[in-house]
Amino acid sequence: MIRLHNFINGRFQAPASGQYLPNDSPANGQVYSEVPDSDQRDVEEAYQAAARAFQDWGRSSKQFRYEMLMRIADGIERRFDELAEAESKDNGKPLWLTREVDIPRASANFRFFATALLHFDAQVHSMEGQALNYTLRHPLGVVGCISPWNLPLYLFTWKIAPALAAGNCVIGKPSEVTPYTAYLLSEIVAEAGLPAGVLNIVHGLGGKVGQALSEHPGIPAISFTGGTATGAQIARTAAPMFKKLSLELGGKNPNIIFADANLDEAVRMSVRSSFLNQGQICLCGSRILVERSVYNEFRDRLVTEAKKIKVGHPSNPEVFMGAVVSKPHMEKILAKIETAKQEGGIVLCGGERVYPSGEAEGGYYVAPTLIENLSMDCSTNQEEIFGPVATLTPFDTEEEALALANSTRYGLAGSVWTENIHRAHRVAARLHSGFVWVNTWNLRDLRTPFGGMKDSGVGREGGFKSFDFFTEAQNVCVKIEGY
Ligand code: NAD
Repeated sequence: MIRLHNFINGRFQAPASGQYLPNDSPANGQVYSEVPDSDQRDVEEAYQAAARAFQDWGRSSKQFRYEMLMRIADGIERRFDELAEAESKDNGKPLWLTREVDIPRASANFRFFATALLHFDAQVHSMEGQALNYTLRHPLGVVGCISPWNLPLYLFTWKIAPALAAGNCVIGKPSEVTPYTAYLLSEIVAEAGLPAGVLNIVHGLGGKVGQALSEHPGIPAISFTGGTATGAQIARTAAPMFKKLSLELGGKNPNIIFADANLDEAVRMSVRSSFLNQGQICLCGSRILVERSVYNEFRDRLVTEAKKIKVGHPSNPEVFMGAVVSKPHMEKILAKIETAKQEGGIVLCGGERVYPSGEAEGGYYVAPTLIENLSMDCSTNQEEIFGPVATLTPFDTEEEALALANSTRYGLAGSVWTENIHRAHRVAARLHSGFVWVNTWNLRDLRTPFGGMKDSGVGREGGFKSFDFFTEAQNVCVKIEGY
């Protein structure tokens, strides 16, 4: 049994409660580690350490912070195999995916924000003949970074790296469902020689550790990625204290296929956008809208491809889909599929739990599921499922496609498939989502603003937007005689 520790003030330590939570591997359902069941006392200790560390870190040179972050990136790369295996074991996602995406992206996050820091500087606004304004950007102090389980180290580092680069000290709270790589990151951070207290990682339940971060009066900003209901709870707690909030929340993303699209590519990528990471990516296209004249052809081809998907143990390189993250999450997905049937949905493929044998026995596997014949206003098409489930709906006109696409309370991402350049731009601009892909999906440039509209979130992360969030702007206006 692996026992994980909190990382506070540069030390590995037990939670104040002395209690631990069991953590299983979704691949076989077996408990293999214990996670600290921390509470407000641990958050307070981390806060005190971070506030002390901020005295120096907040005033340190950019060059120093750059070098520290690059050493952390080097540490991630040195322990690449171990991290990739840990992420796959903890989350249930295929090992090939953690090797191709999760772990490379974690070190890339540190390198990206370390180097971006060197190019982030004050703006100057000249008032001709009168004065010069310059805008300073100060770090905020001790900030909270709270992350979900679907891309554990990838999203944890996406927040921590810019926060640290901008000169803040951080209390990080990884998901209690997937804590393992965050724990390994604390070892890497210690090895890299980051000064004590600059990054603290407190493990435990959202209602205890996350809530304590939102409530803490000394923490001026929370960067959160997770569910919409949790985001609302954090906002309710933090807003009266006027905390800065970055909330990256849920989605119910449309994937719009026009008849003039390159159907080969649209089918190939729709398999990925529906089922990659077991459909547990906030950007997954869970509502596939298809122009009626190609609906049957597209549907049949997609169903054929979905049926070919191999589901099984995450370490098997032939497997495209591993296990979903937990037993309760699997049960939620299966219940949502039952609801879809009650709402009149026709299950075209999947729709059930998969029971692979051997080392995958006892794991939480769900077959790739496609459903048609649902109205757009039913709960299956309105509420996030966050699993390997996508619906198919025909449309007749561009207007109708847009109306269907924009009909949910979410607005995170959308994809448009068409060879008509005018339509591509027109539809992209009218989609109510923070992110639109044309003829592709999930192609990410870390410099671009990332975030959602409507109930998918508040604020944007990425590139200098992350630095805007993690700093306070201060304008200095200097009157200059004879200027
Ligand atoms: P979640 O909201 O249950 O948990 C996310 C984090 O918040 C966890 O660390 C959890 O412990 C913590 N938390 C729970 N209650 C809290 C509270 N009261 N106060 C503070 N923190 C609390 O989400 P999840 O199930 O881990 O992740 C899945 C969700 O995340 C999906 O809705 C998905 O769409 C969303 N997501 C969004 C993005 C994005 O960029 N918009 C990216 C990935 C995932």
